Amino acid sequence: MSTFTIIGGGIAGASIAYHLVKSGYPVTVYDRLDKGQATSASAGIICPWVSQRRNQKWYRLVREGARYYPHFIKQLEGITQLSTGYRKNGAICLFKDNHIQQLAYDRISAKQVDAPEMGKVIKMTKQQVKAMHPYLTDSYPAVFVEGGGQVNGEKLLSALKAGIRHYGGQWLEQAKKPTEIEDTVIYTAGAWSREHYQQPNIKHQRAELLHFKFLAADQQAETPVVMGLGPMYIVETEKNNFAIGTTHEDTDAFNSDPSREGQHYLYDQATRYFPDTRIENQTVAVGLRPFTRDSLPYIGYVKDNNFVVNGLGSSGLTAAPVIGREVANYLTGRETVLDLNDYAYF
Ligand SMILES: Cc1cc2nc3c(=O)[nH]c(=O)nc-3n(C[C@H](O)[C@H](O)[C@H](O)COP(=O)(O)OP(=O)(O)OC[C@H]3O[C@@H](n4cnc5c(N)ncnc54)[C@H](O)[C@@H]3O)c2cc1C
Repeated sequence: MSTFTIIGGGIAGASIAYHLVKSGYPVTVYDRLDKGQATSASAGIICPWVSQRRNQKWYRLVREGARYYPHFIKQLEGITQLSTGYRKNGAICLFKDNHIQQLAYDRISAKQVDAPEMGKVIKMTKQQVKAMHPYLTDSYPAVFVEGGGQVNGEKLLSALKAGIRHYGGQWLEQAKKPTEIEDTVIYTAGAWSREHYQQPNIKHQRAELLHFKFLAADQQAETPVVMGLGPMYIVETEKNNFAIGTTHEDTDAFNSDPSREGQHYLYDQATRYFPDTRIENQTVAVGLRPFTRDSLPYIGYVKDNNFVVNGLGSSGLTAAPVIGREVANYLTGRETVLDLNDYAYF
């Protein structure tokens, strides 16, 4: 029977390890907990249908990812008794005016045929937005997508670690360089991939996310995810606590300290979306998002028994669990739902 060594314990490595070990294969994960790990900084939004990206290979992957989430979480939380913070409260997508709202509604609702899990798609007036999310600005109309959800990257990772151990896998918090004698080695090293291979060429983007709390807020119900104008988004991380993001900075550096400029920019955005509320307890999370040139994840062998999964980009929390399922099936000779050749492209 094959044994698997996994180098990198972010969401990519943990998801693959979990699915392999659940199927009875010996797995050891090495994770050295680099500062800037993308998974623990992530906003964790699971709502791929609203994206304007046209790359069909990417869309098939994230659509399948969102479809798989409820089943995956139920199983994982069931065996570990740990919360992953997963919830499906829908997504409010804001648009500049009614014309853009209509175009977006047509574009998003057209995807329902192939993705019934996205639930209802509803046009909302500014007043309806305010009624659903009382602290949010009433400046913009919206499209509501019922199936939108979110997960907490850090909690999900803890649950996966517990799940891997539950099925007999090993998780070692240390760096790893593979030796000759090992069987299959899976590299899921995120932004740090160039220590191991040059192709596929993985770059990274520094992203900052501002966490804050409402001052004296009395909001009761959990709010949906908010997809703001342009690339902005907002998630409620716990009662009356929110995160807004993100910044996008292409870089070769591995600096994961928060920046003053990033914090100011995100604070300005927060006051734009929550104009009537004072915010406090600001902290900034910084993650290094791994990207390929075309922003399409790479999933495939790079040589002999070395397999790579990387470049999960902005949608890695959405895609990783299903990638874990598919890669485990592929490497153990079982059928896959996705054609993984689509992602082994160099
Ligand atoms: C601010 C932010 C917001 C995001 N929001 C969302 C979102 O809303 N929805 C969504 O779907 N996605 C989101 N993403 C994207 C998602 O978080 C990433 O795509 C995903 O986490 C990448 O996971 P990964 O496992 O490839 O890399 P990482 O999580 O970075 O993990 C790589 C791990 O490999 C380890 N490692 C590297 N080399 C070695 C070695 N030699 N030995 C041992 N360990 C090693 C590192 O220490 C690290 O722990 C966001 C990302 C960021 C940064």
